[in-house]
Amino acid sequence: MPIQTINPYNNKLIQSFDALTESELEHKLAQAHRAYLSWRNEPVSVRAELLHKVSDIMLQRKNELAKLITLEMGKLIAQSESEIEMCASVYQYYADHAAAFLEDKPLEVSDGSAFIRYTPTGIILGVEPWNFPFNQVGRITAPNIVAGNVVMIKHASNVPQCAAMMETIFKEAGAPEGVYTNLFLPGDKIAALAADERVTGLSLTGSEKAGASLAEAAGKNLKKSVLELGGSDAFIILDDADIDLAVEKAVLGRFNNMGQSCTSSKRIIALEAVADEFLDKFKAKIIGLKVGDPLDPDTKIGPMVSEEAAARLAEQVDDTVKAGAKIVTGGKRIDREGAFYDFTILTDIPKGSVAYREELFGPVASFYKVRDIEAAVALANDTGFGLGGSVFSRDTDKAIAVASRIDTGMVFINQNVASRPDLPFGGTKRSGYGRELSQLGIEEFVNKKVIRIA
Ligand code: NAP
Repeated sequence: MPIQTINPYNNKLIQSFDALTESELEHKLAQAHRAYLSWRNEPVSVRAELLHKVSDIMLQRKNELAKLITLEMGKLIAQSESEIEMCASVYQYYADHAAAFLEDKPLEVSDGSAFIRYTPTGIILGVEPWNFPFNQVGRITAPNIVAGNVVMIKHASNVPQCAAMMETIFKEAGAPEGVYTNLFLPGDKIAALAADERVTGLSLTGSEKAGASLAEAAGKNLKKSVLELGGSDAFIILDDADIDLAVEKAVLGRFNNMGQSCTSSKRIIALEAVADEFLDKFKAKIIGLKVGDPLDPDTKIGPMVSEEAAARLAEQVDDTVKAGAKIVTGGKRIDREGAFYDFTILTDIPKGSVAYREELFGPVASFYKVRDIEAAVALANDTGFGLGGSVFSRDTDKAIAVASRIDTGMVFINQNVASRPDLPFGGTKRSGYGRELSQLGIEEFVNKKVIRIA
């Protein structure tokens, strides 16, 4: 993919950037490695102070950063502002908690004593997607930099200004050169970096195809990797659910960020007794919404990330309809300039059809009516993905029992799935492995060294 900003609101090319040459890349690797050799010796308090400053700068420059997100990938401006706040809170969280997370951990042994000491390992390479261009970067950067690693980020090629801005913010916060490095590189150049001995860990958030390529390169070079991949989360509504609450959270869960979140509530599964009431109310909430410029705070339906993404979604919906699915609302591109696709609900989706099998990365809800809890659980698990899910019920014990049968990394009860600094984030099955955020996130790329005293 060329490295460039194209505004999806009107498909206009704004700016292009050159990829790094081999020698520029080598210079940056050498600089990052030098930075690591001294950064690892800084006390946690100094490293945490840097994150505090990054967080403060992000909040001070919130409006400017939010506009950059909206310009490059079309997010509604209020949601872009929320993303900046969320990202600042991730830096803040690790600044506040790193010392406790990285404290020596005593081990119970039958004689003498032993403890675990958390030590950094080197350069961590993060390959990041465009859908939350600041927050995705924060999730890998904050825990690693505070743990004494240094970070190189290869961001998605369609958000280069957000990518460059994050490096600028680190500089402004006083980060030594090489602690945070932005790499303008195409995706297919990443596998080669895994072979470099200065790179000690690799993390990718994105599609299965990119994840498999990174994991292969990491495996070949015996490097640790973390993968945060796609999802097709089930949003299960039991017959004793608060339907109005479920409707509110389903609208947010499915249509926030124009449906372009890994943990969007992509498959809504309602028990027969409440399905029709839910569907009527859900539909009523998403029709007649204002379509327009994502920079206008009154706009409720903005563009998707790109013309290609909108065309691909249209193809997936058309194929599913050809297979027998019905459109409750939407189901088409919006007739105007830009990467627009209407808010859509599909029902009667045949088993094995495109919407049944694949991730729909856009504003399309797949709605299923099922007989009972057994059928809901079976349908929820009938997917290759295993990222998140939701269960709605007024009976918390019943909801927990259902949650424990869903094969995913996360299940939220009476809520849509949402990323927050204090909860581990990650999946199972084809949604990847490893965790970001919380204490688990900081443990991924540190050496858990055992020190034994006789
Ligand atoms: P993508 O094409 O896989 O891109 C993600 C990143 O991977 C980009 O930086 C991309 O660079 C890079 N890349 C592409 N091919 C690569 C390769 N062969 N080797 C190494 N890197 C490569 O993903 P996307 O379609 O933009 O993003 C949407 C996907 O991400 C969805 O499936 C979504 O569910 C998933 N996602 C998951 C999470 C999670 O936490 N689990 C969060 C957000 C998104 P270029 O842009 O240069 O191609």
